[in-house]
Amino acid sequence: MPQTVKGVIAMAKGEPVTVTDIVIPDPIAGEAVVAIKACGVCHTDLHYREGGINDEFPFLLGHEAAGVVESVGEGVTDVAVGDYVILNWRAVCGQCRSCAKGKPQYCFATHNATQKMTLTDGTELSPALGIGAFCEKTLVAAGQCTKVDEAAPPEVAGLLGCGVMAGIGAAINTGEVGRGDTVAVFGCGGVGNAALEGARIAGARTIIAVDIDDQKLEWAKDFGATHTVNSSEVDAVEAIRELTDGNGVDVAIEAVGLPQTYEQAFYARDLAGTVVLVGVPNPEMKVELPFIEIFGRGGALKSSWYGDCLPSRDFPMLIDLFLQGRLNLGGFVSETIDLDAVEEAFHKMHKGEVLRSVVTL
Ligand SMILES: [Zn+2]
Ligand SMILES: [Zn+2]
Repeated sequence: MPQTVKGVIAMAKGEPVTVTDIVIPDPIAGEAVVAIKACGVCHTDLHYREGGINDEFPFLLGHEAAGVVESVGEGVTDVAVGDYVILNWRAVCGQCRSCAKGKPQYCFATHNATQKMTLTDGTELSPALGIGAFCEKTLVAAGQCTKVDEAAPPEVAGLLGCGVMAGIGAAINTGEVGRGDTVAVFGCGGVGNAALEGARIAGARTIIAVDIDDQKLEWAKDFGATHTVNSSEVDAVEAIRELTDGNGVDVAIEAVGLPQTYEQAFYARDLAGTVVLVGVPNPEMKVELPFIEIFGRGGALKSSWYGDCLPSRDFPMLIDLFLQGRLNLGGFVSETIDLDAVEEAFHKMHKGEVLRSVVTL
């Protein structure tokens, strides 16, 4: 029997979101229905609402979530009813040319639920990032559920489903930060602070947080930053060189998505160092760099998709580090809120007052 539950819907571009009845079909082969316990409010949800991703309204928002599997479709064996899971938005296919090369973290054919969730009048919903988790229950592909230790509270665990994983992964997977490395992170919101935390657990020696907001630089100190640079007051590249014996950092992580900060990251790294772009640019932006510098500085210019994570490998490992007190995930949760407070949380996020507001159910 299809179920009717409450969900947060963006009906039209720029309009405030509303809590509305939505219909969840029973799972068929390859699908699972998950009872949501917590879901973080991410900038991407706001981008959907603003029409910045596509115009396939109405959207069922929310995608950084943890919950419990309520039912699974025929033949589903990778998760079971009652499993405590984090939802991911890259359920790997196992068959595409990247999976075939043994690199499922880059899977080019990730999948979502086959059926659609709807409004009560039958209007099909577009779930944010193929998840849609600001709701009591959601329908996903079974591969989007990653089982983790249920000792981790859902408001903390769910954050690994998106921004925090992107940041940690930018450091440990894409940037391959190693013991003793020097690292700079540009932009200290949720993703940037997670990148600092990633550099810390990887054993980096010097971890430099760069932002234009003193409040955010204060937060950064709780996430592994050994030094902070306010780039509205000083030249960030000069400051980073001074903190690294004049050399620049081994790994520079751009978590803003702006050409100016990307250029700073490019020049702030040591010879043969790595630049990681995890901030998301908009389609109009262009970067101009002297071609000879791209060659002459050597190293690598890399982009990080979802922290180049493999959920089945990375989520349980990071939850274990959290439970052992070795990874600060709790610090990302600024507040827990109800479903009907998502619109207000967008305003707080936009003003930079919170790292993460998390809906709990
Ligand atoms: Zn694949
Ligand atoms: Zn997100």
